[in-house]
Amino acid sequence: SQGPRDRLRIAIQKNGRLSGPARALLGGCGLSWRESPDRLFCYGESAPIDLLLVRDDDIPGLIADGLCDLGVVGRNVLLEQASERVSKQLPSAFGEWRALGFGSCRLSLAVPQDWIWEEPRQLEGRRIATSYPALLKSWLQARDVKADIVVLSGSVEIAPRLGQADAICDLVSSGATLAANQLVPVVDLLESEAVLAGPTRPLEPVLATLAEQLLRRLDGVVRIRD
Ligand code: ATP
Ligand code: ZN
Repeated sequence: SQGPRDRLRIAIQKNGRLSGPARALLGGCGLSWRESPDRLFCYGESAPIDLLLVRDDDIPGLIADGLCDLGVVGRNVLLEQASERVSKQLPSAFGEWRALGFGSCRLSLAVPQDWIWEEPRQLEGRRIATSYPALLKSWLQARDVKADIVVLSGSVEIAPRLGQADAICDLVSSGATLAANQLVPVVDLLESEAVLAGPTRPLEPVLATLAEQLLRRLDGVVRIRD
């Protein structure tokens, strides 16, 4: 068995939209690692701060379980999993510590171009495809709309063409993918960007000190970029 850790551990996306910018940001904070691009673990050289390279969806759970201390993840993923915990009556375990200013997108409801959109009530009894069922469910509940949520892990935007759903709730940045599938965004559920996520409970003192030092540098770097 292992004693308490004395090195801070940060989870970032292994491959994807946030991996490059997350590494660049942490590098800009003066951190460097023994390179191991194909591995899951990067040992910190300039400071006792290691990286864990994972799927973005795993990051909130790793923080909740104390396996990682911090993470760089989309607010969309963080809030979806936070909302899921609420519905399972689990205590809050992680939250947004800082907004990082990259990875901007919106979680939007999109409907076929031939709908005349007026109000959420039009979704009553319809099927909506999404990878964000918890956020969509609470949005619908708040508006007292009953719809069927079709959970898909990818290719959500083709669901209406395939006859799997009537509308979708998905991440949008340029809107080009939606347009290519004859869909139009009508409501935004969330404005998202990459965030630094951390635990709700306090970190162990040694880790808390490392995290404070990192946050001070990070705030400087993020401010300069604005
Ligand atoms: P993983 O293999 O890690 O699960 P993924 O396919 O879930 O990867 P990416 O497509 O790399 O993830 O997206 C990561 C994050 O990038 C999203 O959760 C979101 O916060 C952000 N993002 C910004 N713009 C977009 C976009 N147009 N579509 C999807 N995600 C976007
Ligand atoms: Zn993912």
